[in-house]
Amino acid sequence: MPGSFAAAGRRAELVAWYRGHGRDLPWRRRTDAYAVLVSEFMCQQTTVAAVIPYFERWMAAFPTVRALAEADEESVLGLWQGLGYYSRARNLHRAARAVVERHGGEVPDDWDALRALPGVGEYTAGAVVAFAFDRPAPVVDANVARVLARWMDLREPVDSTAGRVALREAARALQPEGAGAREINSAVMELGALVCKPRAPLCLACPVRGGCRATEPELLPVKRPRAAVTEVTERRAFVVDTAGLHLLRSTGRWRGMWILPETAAGGEIAHVERYPITRYRVRMEVVRQSPAEWSGLRAFGWDEVPSIPIPSPHRRAIEALVAKGRAVHREGHDEV
Ligand code: SF4
Repeated sequence: MPGSFAAAGRRAELVAWYRGHGRDLPWRRRTDAYAVLVSEFMCQQTTVAAVIPYFERWMAAFPTVRALAEADEESVLGLWQGLGYYSRARNLHRAARAVVERHGGEVPDDWDALRALPGVGEYTAGAVVAFAFDRPAPVVDANVARVLARWMDLREPVDSTAGRVALREAARALQPEGAGAREINSAVMELGALVCKPRAPLCLACPVRGGCRATEPELLPVKRPRAAVTEVTERRAFVVDTAGLHLLRSTGRWRGMWILPETAAGGEIAHVERYPITRYRVRMEVVRQSPAEWSGLRAFGWDEVPSIPIPSPHRRAIEALVAKGRAVHREGHDEV
């Protein structure tokens, strides 16, 4: 790689900048591998600001890998609710069980053993090796990819095979011999978050600008064209009686969580909720139905609803319908 951070002698400048400017994130205060593993699962596709309260609640509820391994799925999903992408929670739960079964409850320090855990990809394995064990490992998340692509003026799409290889090699060249991987990887990541931002990078304040090859950094990184978004409509039932809210246990996308059941019924649409999922934009139409029209649902009292795992789009629809019901009730009509 032309002009790597290490070869250009930039590593020390970058680390010095990080020591002065890096944010005090809760998982950076901890170097136990389980906490690192949890934070890395949570930070996938989610902002740091959104993750912080979830991380703290999670570590209070499941302070060790064994505590998580022994937890039931419902309480795991319940603590995750609102973070989205629930497969991460299920995989983290399975990974904790695998750590107990295969490694006696100690998160392994070996890249291959980490990679073999459920839901642990190259990025997460590298992050645990570097951040928990302070050993060299390439750690390429979106922030790091952006910094390195700009630094190298990489014109290959960063999500292509050639682009990934180039980034991994650049990240590998960044690693110090022996200790120090924790700090240098954190520093590049933080540079991407605070200085080398997606739009309007703060190049004048950048500690490594002297070696950066980007002439038009805002045009980098290049990515492959995205698949077109497809609109889909689904119809779901809001089933309520004096016993409370009747929900279905999902066996599909939200496996293990409680959802409004899908229905083919016509009738008046009581609420519309829109949400994105992968390359789809979903219009969820909700109609009211009677429990008599259903079997296989479970009734939850309204005091139970806040603590059971319900995916965010369904919870928002429920809350909107409850609020509408209260408004109607205040006007002297029927309650929900
Ligand atoms: S000089 Fe600008 S583009 Fe280059 S690494 Fe620094 S912030 Fe990013």
